[in-house]
Amino acid sequence: MAEAALGAAPIDDGPDALATVRLLAARGSHAALGELVDAPEPLARRRLSDVAWLKRLGECFCGDPGFRADFLAAPERAARARGLRVAPEDLNAFHAAQGGSDEDDPRARWTENMHALWELTRAGLDCEGWNAAAQSGARPGGEHYRRWRARCRARERYDFPPHVAGFYRPVVAVELASGCSVGCWFCAISADGLRATAELGAAERAEWHAVVDVLERTLGASSAAAICYWATDPLDNPSYESFLEAFHARTGAWPPTVTALAARQPERVARILARAARHGCLSNELSVLSVADLRRLHAAFRPEDLLFTPLVLQGRGAHQFVAYPRAVPARKVLAGRVREAAARGNAMAREAQPGSIACVVGFLLNLVERRVRLIRPCTADARWPLGYVVLDEARYADAPELEARITAMTSRWMSAELPDDRVIGFDHGLEFRVLPNGFELRGAWQTRRFVDRLRLPGRPSWLAIGVLVNAGDASASTIARRLAAGGIDAAAVSEALGVLYDAGVLALDAR
Ligand code: SF4
Repeated sequence: MAEAALGAAPIDDGPDALATVRLLAARGSHAALGELVDAPEPLARRRLSDVAWLKRLGECFCGDPGFRADFLAAPERAARARGLRVAPEDLNAFHAAQGGSDEDDPRARWTENMHALWELTRAGLDCEGWNAAAQSGARPGGEHYRRWRARCRARERYDFPPHVAGFYRPVVAVELASGCSVGCWFCAISADGLRATAELGAAERAEWHAVVDVLERTLGASSAAAICYWATDPLDNPSYESFLEAFHARTGAWPPTVTALAARQPERVARILARAARHGCLSNELSVLSVADLRRLHAAFRPEDLLFTPLVLQGRGAHQFVAYPRAVPARKVLAGRVREAAARGNAMAREAQPGSIACVVGFLLNLVERRVRLIRPCTADARWPLGYVVLDEARYADAPELEARITAMTSRWMSAELPDDRVIGFDHGLEFRVLPNGFELRGAWQTRRFVDRLRLPGRPSWLAIGVLVNAGDASASTIARRLAAGGIDAAAVSEALGVLYDAGVLALDAR
């Protein structure tokens, strides 16, 4: 029998897919939306509903191993039993794509609804473009910051696959709690249990305003690219929405929400998603921890309510799309608690892939603990088991002290030029290899060579530079002095080291 709950009623004040499409179109996102915007409302809504049901089919297939087995055996019967109102051509194309070879690109056989789902997803993702200025750090005074982020992104290319280069990289993460109530076994950032949440009474509201102003003063417009969670679930904080409103009022940006508590608080999440969409933020995600959570969410939300909200399917046996709609088993990231579980022999953890779920390139604040850290993503390993490098860390008592801490970290770590007096080495995680005419640096996803095309008198060889940097015991000025003994020009050494600095491969204070 069909599951009537899948046809949930709209939630008061919840998301409205057509309103979101109109907003996207009004902001100039994707000409392909025009067809939907110009169509009569009943037709446009029906079209969106068709596409949303297709999205839901994917969620059931990836998130529910029982449904997946039934669907693979008899697609129409399984869809009917689950109450999925998916067009027959979509069902057939979805079914046919499973089990294809890697060379076989299912996009060649996409249906009209699959193309529409792709266009809508892209249009939603382009919303991040609304924050482009925020992410660039382009405001006057933000140049040192923009260059530091560029170095971090260049360094990332050694650690992560190319598609990660396009991922959203917030500038600031603000934790509104100490710890997280959810306690996922696979938490890649090893969140502690929930101890306290940040309050928002009159005094705390004034302080939150002051903190946002500090971020704006120190980071410029880029401070708007913020999230209000990290090793926390935002819904643990009863005042979460008020924090977002205050942030939006001061910066004009609405931070995205990622939560694993949506199945337990669907009405609240519906209102958050609707407000986020109205403010142009469609980068929200709902983590789904189990088949039971998936069913609860599907019972609470109509498919079109979640059209612009990806579900991150985290339960046992979940699949993920590789070339939509082909799905393969999802693998966890070998970081945090997954690393610990793998060390204990947990079978699922041992299949995890190296990497990181960390996204912030910038400052991580905890309002409860009054702690600020400067971080960037890296592949998790024994030194950085949570998948992010902590370059600096400090406590602060109030907003002025936070400003002083951020300013100090900025001047210590974001110098636009390579400081002369700090000991340098190649960054942790890069493998240095000598070549006949220079050297190469290897990461899991990128190898870059620094080699001499031709040698000019007075200029250092890349090999000499590489060997001295790799020793990790000298500053730029010491390296220049050592090479000067062989008649090498100090300015040429500085230029070569500058190339390495801009390439993001140098670690400061390497010793
Ligand atoms: S993965 Fe997210 S929700 Fe789960 S414990 Fe970690 S921080 Fe909390």
